[in-house]
Amino acid sequence: EWVDFVQFYSRIIDRFELAKEQNVRFERKLLDQATFVEIDPDKLTQVLDNIISNALKYSPEGGKITFKMVEEEEMIIISVSDEGVGIPKDNLEKIFERFYRVDKARTRKLGGTGLGLAIAKEMVEAHGGKIWARSVEGKGTTVSFSLPYLQTEEDDWS
Ligand code: ATP
Ligand code: MG
Repeated sequence: EWVDFVQFYSRIIDRFELAKEQNVRFERKLLDQATFVEIDPDKLTQVLDNIISNALKYSPEGGKITFKMVEEEEMIIISVSDEGVGIPKDNLEKIFERFYRVDKARTRKLGGTGLGLAIAKEMVEAHGGKIWARSVEGKGTTVSFSLPYLQTEEDDWS
């Protein structure tokens, strides 16, 4: 299904912004032009739901979450950055493995199974994309993924 990812992403962010109970500010830096990608919307909703829930779960009181979407060499890159506890460098790859959770004691009280990002990885890869994380301990985390994107004919004419 062809979906304008700007609108699709905005609606998911809206839903979280309305429902959130934490004192966390949302900032959006999305493309200002409709950008169509061929995706399974249900599956990508699940991907974004997990990434955004994680960002909220690990955000401090008064923190900010930044939502970005940029275009890069026939890909769109979507990212969610938080100002939370962060993830130690050695664990950055492992968070995409099934049942992996950083620091069992820390995460026990926050709930979850450790499956969210493993499922997200599977779904992003099924769309021909990649998923990765960058983090600075104590400063925050950015989870990003790419999706192949075809330039519209309109762009070719300009
Ligand atoms: P589930 O998503 O199944 O409810 P979960 O959130 O613990 O459980 P994942 O979403 O797969 O599992 O994340 C794996 C682990 O990666 C988390 O337990 C947490 O330790 C770490 N993690 C993920 N996102 C963040 C983040 N934004 N900041 C800090 N740690 C994170
Ligand atoms: Mg999760």
